[in-house]
Amino acid sequence: MDTPENPPLQPLRLDGHVHLVGDGSSGSGCWLKLDGLVRQLQGRLLLSAAGLPSACLRGGLDLAFESRVAKLLETSNLDGFLLLAQDEAYRSDGTKIEGFGSFYLPNSHLFGVCRRNPGLYPACSIHPARPDALEELETALQAGCRVLKLLPNCLNVDCSERRFLPFWKRMATGGMALLSHTGGEFTLPQTNPDFANPRKLTLPLEQGVTVIAAHAAGRSGLWDPDWTNQLEAMAAVFPNLYCDNSALCSPNRWRTLPALLSGPLRDRVIHGSDYPVPSGGFGPWLGGHLSWSDWRASAQLENPIRRDVHLKTTLGFAPETFTRLDALTGLTSAWSARNRAA
Ligand SMILES: [Zn+2]
Repeated sequence: MDTPENPPLQPLRLDGHVHLVGDGSSGSGCWLKLDGLVRQLQGRLLLSAAGLPSACLRGGLDLAFESRVAKLLETSNLDGFLLLAQDEAYRSDGTKIEGFGSFYLPNSHLFGVCRRNPGLYPACSIHPARPDALEELETALQAGCRVLKLLPNCLNVDCSERRFLPFWKRMATGGMALLSHTGGEFTLPQTNPDFANPRKLTLPLEQGVTVIAAHAAGRSGLWDPDWTNQLEAMAAVFPNLYCDNSALCSPNRWRTLPALLSGPLRDRVIHGSDYPVPSGGFGPWLGGHLSWSDWRASAQLENPIRRDVHLKTTLGFAPETFTRLDALTGLTSAWSARNRAA
């Protein structure tokens, strides 16, 4: 599915990796679970990096997060954000692993947010083992959604399982791209870290799905395996394989930057921030990729998404990294054509 149904004449400049989080306080069906002291602290840090008061952890997060993201778009220098849903964890037999994970954000809530706020575009999230996976995929396609997000290591998805073949095939024929977490994971509980190995994406790639390896399979924690080399080897075989540079301006992921700036993946990079994960110049400066004055200049920018754009541009990411996602998937025209009344 290399050509979208209506290839955009003028692809929009997007942040292709923005999380939406909610607590269900508006009847959205979302949940957020911060068990124990460490997760509580993490939640507070993320909220403060996101620019939201910690009082939101006691209620009202659904609406506060939605209006915060819409405001950030107004003051960013981008045309739109790709907002990500988050499904729940399932076993491969289709039964739900009840209560596992830190947050859940259903597609229905995401679509509502994107219909209410022009410039916000949805990436649905559907665990392929869900009994209703193919129906939910059809609903998302009909709604004009063209990207599907998965966190295989946290949602317990083994993308290489043969039973998911019909799901990947329908994604390919429907023009639905797969944005899949690859590499280490630092912030969320995992069921199986190996499910973030890019090799697991071979099956959807073979079916013709456009696959975007989030974080380019790099390390997050100090002891994580580094699978970026493997991703580079796969890119030589699969022209439909891309990666994103999300969260690479964080203190723990900057080590992946050089591979994406000059290696064989250079022309496959898609811009993404991973908001609300904090983005700043400290890590890139520490790695010698950013000068002290460029770091300090970026710190003046209050909008974290705008700051991330500034940092990535200063680091040398090409202008095409901002338009590549829309050029590949036609996601903004597909969504706008079906939701124009909004
Ligand atoms: Zn993310």
